[in-house]
Amino acid sequence: MRAFDSTTDPALRSWLDVAPGSDFPIQNLPFGVFVHGARDVAPRLGVAIGDKILDLSAVAHAGLLDDAMPEAFAVFAAPSLNRLLARGRAPWRAVRERLSALLSAGNRELHDAGVSERAIVERAGARYLLPFEVADYVDFYSSREHATNLGKILRPDTEPLLPNWKWIPIGYHGRAGTVVISDTPIVRPNGQRKAPDATEPAFGPTRMLDFELELGFVTGNGPALGSPLGVAASRDVIFGAVIVNDWSARDIQGWEYVPLGPFLGKSFATSVSPWVVTLDALAPFRVEGPAQSPPALEYLRAAEPRNYDIALAVELVSAKMDAKSAQTISRTNARGLYWSVAQQLAHLASNGATVRAGDLCATGTISGSEPGTYGSMIELTWRGARPLQLANGEMRAFLEDGDAVTMRASCDRAGAAHIGFGSVSGRILPAP
Ligand code: MN
Repeated sequence: MRAFDSTTDPALRSWLDVAPGSDFPIQNLPFGVFVHGARDVAPRLGVAIGDKILDLSAVAHAGLLDDAMPEAFAVFAAPSLNRLLARGRAPWRAVRERLSALLSAGNRELHDAGVSERAIVERAGARYLLPFEVADYVDFYSSREHATNLGKILRPDTEPLLPNWKWIPIGYHGRAGTVVISDTPIVRPNGQRKAPDATEPAFGPTRMLDFELELGFVTGNGPALGSPLGVAASRDVIFGAVIVNDWSARDIQGWEYVPLGPFLGKSFATSVSPWVVTLDALAPFRVEGPAQSPPALEYLRAAEPRNYDIALAVELVSAKMDAKSAQTISRTNARGLYWSVAQQLAHLASNGATVRAGDLCATGTISGSEPGTYGSMIELTWRGARPLQLANGEMRAFLEDGDAVTMRASCDRAGAAHIGFGSVSGRILPAP
């Protein structure tokens, strides 16, 4: 495997100023949908570079993307990535190479076409919409450490990993319609919950509101209904990734999840970060995953490095804290995930189910093996038994009204340009 290609070469520079350490150097070029109040109110597709956004509808309108992809304007005038997602791997690659060239030091095409003023806007002042219409949303359970912790917490007297876990990338179908963009307020859900010593459940606000630190992979179209997608081909169907906060109400989940799995304890909201980082940008950060024992069944077996080295962090700000004193409560990394995204997607499609442009496949909570590396409050506080003490003295077993959770993700490797995902945030509002 070549570590770098023409778009990820660490020597590449843009004619736009990019601050050292920016999440969005020219090697990244993530896609998002933004509204810029100072210009107009129409949402537009763009790529982030440094502290700027390149407005792709303006670039396509000038005809500068036509050589990369036929009818580019029809794709980039839409305020969503779905038309691009539907085009497939080769056009994705051609567009990335073209955008990389247009933004590279020495390239004057945007200036010569007279669109550089109009096509480049400040990221400050932009707000974001969902970058794609979510087709189906599937949440997996691919961190062995997370699955083991949940097993110990929920079923303390039994083997924590259920017998199927090392054979099947476990997942469930979530609710696509309640996937929301970062900064959408999260209303504390009401639901049925039953205390262990109670004889009957009660309906009311969750008392165990939690976050789940995840990555979500966004797809193009797979083969027709009835045709499986092999593990070798599955990576070609994945466009890129976002950070996912899969908000969870543990008391509602605990009462409802047997026998059919998570339902209303999960479906009230799932937050995603605004910028979709492409698999092409992530290619320098591919790493071997942990050894799989027993070996995966043939249809899940991939010979290539199957994971991504992506550092992740969770910050909490309570209503009593100012935003600058955000407290980091977890740091972990996606490189240790047991099941890879390629294996998950191959499994999802192994029965002939379709993969559609805009599907979101989330990894499941990403946890490491040490307490400070857990990706949820239920693990960090061991279901409230070991509450977190915040720097200002407040205690937390689960999230309280007014708490804001921010998750960040970034990639670093010797010799490679630093790239980042930005962040996904949400603040808890009281139950209605
Ligand atoms: Mn989840």
